[in-house]
Amino acid sequence: MEPAPLAPSPSAAWLDRLLGGAVTEGVVDLHLEPDRAGLWVRRRGAGGWEEERVPATIAGPELVARIKVLAHLDPNERRLPLDGRLRWSGGTQTADFRVATLPALHGEVVALRVLQRSAVPPALSSLGLSSAAEERLRSWLAQGRGLVAIAGPTGAGKTTTAYAALGCVDATQRKIMTVEDPVEFQRDGFVQIAVDAEQGLTFADALRSLLRQDPDLIFVGEVRDAATAAVAVQAALTGHGVVATVHAASTEGAIIRLLDLGVEPFLLADALAGVVAQRLVARLCPVCRVPAPWPRDLGPSPDGVVSGAERSGAMTRGPGCAACAGRGVVGRVGFFEVIAVTRAIREAMVRVDGLEALRGAMAAEVAVERGGGLRAQLLEAACRGGIDVNDACTGMGDADDGG
Ligand SMILES: [Zn+2]
Repeated sequence: MEPAPLAPSPSAAWLDRLLGGAVTEGVVDLHLEPDRAGLWVRRRGAGGWEEERVPATIAGPELVARIKVLAHLDPNERRLPLDGRLRWSGGTQTADFRVATLPALHGEVVALRVLQRSAVPPALSSLGLSSAAEERLRSWLAQGRGLVAIAGPTGAGKTTTAYAALGCVDATQRKIMTVEDPVEFQRDGFVQIAVDAEQGLTFADALRSLLRQDPDLIFVGEVRDAATAAVAVQAALTGHGVVATVHAASTEGAIIRLLDLGVEPFLLADALAGVVAQRLVARLCPVCRVPAPWPRDLGPSPDGVVSGAERSGAMTRGPGCAACAGRGVVGRVGFFEVIAVTRAIREAMVRVDGLEALRGAMAAEVAVERGGGLRAQLLEAACRGGIDVNDACTGMGDADDGG
């Protein structure tokens, strides 16, 4: 049998859209799973797993064969598991996928994982930040000293925000270095280091070595251990600008997380310039969304802040329609809370019994932000029917949401 044709066919075009969509929508895993009736595609991104049936017009075996050809695998080997790599490119974007096939009862299962995307990070102004929030981020990076922590759950777009913010800096005038696992965006002019724990290159090691290269701005892909937290804070205190992502649910949770990692409160108070918390939430398809009751555990609906014409009331995902390609959602919308570390917040951080004071000081800063804090913004969007009311406050716990 000949390899699958490389000329555009319905399955080739469909695969191209599937991979391209994964790259632009921040999907991490793509699984193709056959059952008795055909093929399912499952996607894991910010909102967890989503699944849909591959259209009947697409031949499953041809699709799998095409993936194998693109991954330099033998399309005729269907009895053994295979591993390969596939590069997708479209327009200005490229991405590498790891491909693993496994023969199963109803045919081959294919798992694709996005390894690296050279998608151009969006401009800071296109993320959906308020102008005040955007200005804060720009000024922190311009001053080139201090730590900016970006908090959010996995898939919230923290790295995208970091790159968009670093994109405002002239990389020909300032030396910008990143430490990540893996490098998510390839950027000309940046020195980018991929952590490789298996080879013994940890975040903290990479960060220490990188500091000897005299960078102006550093992006730390994730602060998840005490050693990395210590070096990142030290770097911020010694004249470097540091942007770091932290796995925490809120701005306050980010501070608590860094303190939990053993950073001395007085050092963190000195180092921290600002904290960002963010979420990416699927946008409901305005055509097929359906009304939903306001969940009692969200507290009272913020009806008062949403004016009559814009208010549709709480909505949830509809059955899907032509406008949303049957998915019930169209794209995603970002929510941000950006807090400047004020003197009151610093003082609350160094007080031993300061947790309540910290909450109070941060809440006061949120109040001056247009649109309110993250929770208020999400509730308002749910009240307008822009997002699924059931998505409004998932993971809005006070502290780290685990994982
Ligand atoms: Zn729809």
